[in-house]
Amino acid sequence: MTTITSDPRFSFEFYPPKTAVGLEKLKETRRKLNALKPAFFSVTYGAGGSTRDNTKDIVKTMRNEGIDVAPHLSFGGDSNESMLELINEYKDAGVNRIVALRGDIPSGSGLGQIVYANELVEFIRQHTGEHFELEVAAYPEIHPESKDYQSDIEFLKLKLDAGANSAITQYFYNADAYFYFLEACQKAGIDKPIYAGIMPITNFTNLRRFSQNCGAEIPRWLTQKMDAYGDDQQSINAFGEEFITKLSQQLLEGGAPGIHFYTMNQYNPTAAIFSNL
Ligand code: FAD
Repeated sequence: MTTITSDPRFSFEFYPPKTAVGLEKLKETRRKLNALKPAFFSVTYGAGGSTRDNTKDIVKTMRNEGIDVAPHLSFGGDSNESMLELINEYKDAGVNRIVALRGDIPSGSGLGQIVYANELVEFIRQHTGEHFELEVAAYPEIHPESKDYQSDIEFLKLKLDAGANSAITQYFYNADAYFYFLEACQKAGIDKPIYAGIMPITNFTNLRRFSQNCGAEIPRWLTQKMDAYGDDQQSINAFGEEFITKLSQQLLEGGAPGIHFYTMNQYNPTAAIFSNL
């Protein structure tokens, strides 16, 4: 296939900053990224609900600025009642999209209940009907806790069948993994869109550490190439931009319905790739 979806969807993800400086910087970043007219922004949710208030505050502030924004949400330590309160607060604030997750489970958290994403999707649908567009997570390189490839796809199907509208993938640097995954999903009877999650490359040391935890594979050639740049940040940025632009292009040409950028709260890397596309 070589045709780009006629109107690919683009979305941008933020995380809630921990400092006043970070919050201030995010204001500027979202103002500039919003000028690129993404379909929506999303704001992550700390493992176990650790950013419950921060995520909510940013989402509500962005809604007040007239921006389409989706909170990421997982049960964490919430009871059904407090979760419903939070969801209704989002609904009242004019939020109409949620990224529904099981979420990462913080070690030693003693979380009493693990609520899988399909159960959260069911919960939201049961209490708020069709009000929200629901996104769920997908893993072309397979979730690190999964028993095997096929069962992870079956669990993705379960959450889509529970009422999610579409999925966004974990980031990956190997286009074949995504295309093979799309094919496997199709064979499993999944016909909802699976948007490609893309992480621009800027801080390679952090990226390498983070990737080990979330099970995203960094190809050996890419590691070698990045290592060779050493501290030459300018070359890392230039190569990162070129490589991610090509990857994104390849994904869109191969049938990806759109791209979700993990912006890491930075304007330049995402904006550069976006405008190259
Ligand atoms: P699930 O879909 O519930 O799957 C979790 C694991 O259990 C998988 O191995 C799956 O195969 C298995 N499984 C699924 N359903 C069942 C079931 N019913 N019974 C038994 N096993 C099952 N993490 C955060 O903490 N905060 C965020 O904001 C955040 N945002 C993300 C956004 C995207 C787009 C993506 C791709 C990931 C995000 N993550 C986030 C990471 C995610 O929370 C972790 O990968 C987490 O470990 C799994 O969440 P999930 O919703 O994919 O879980």
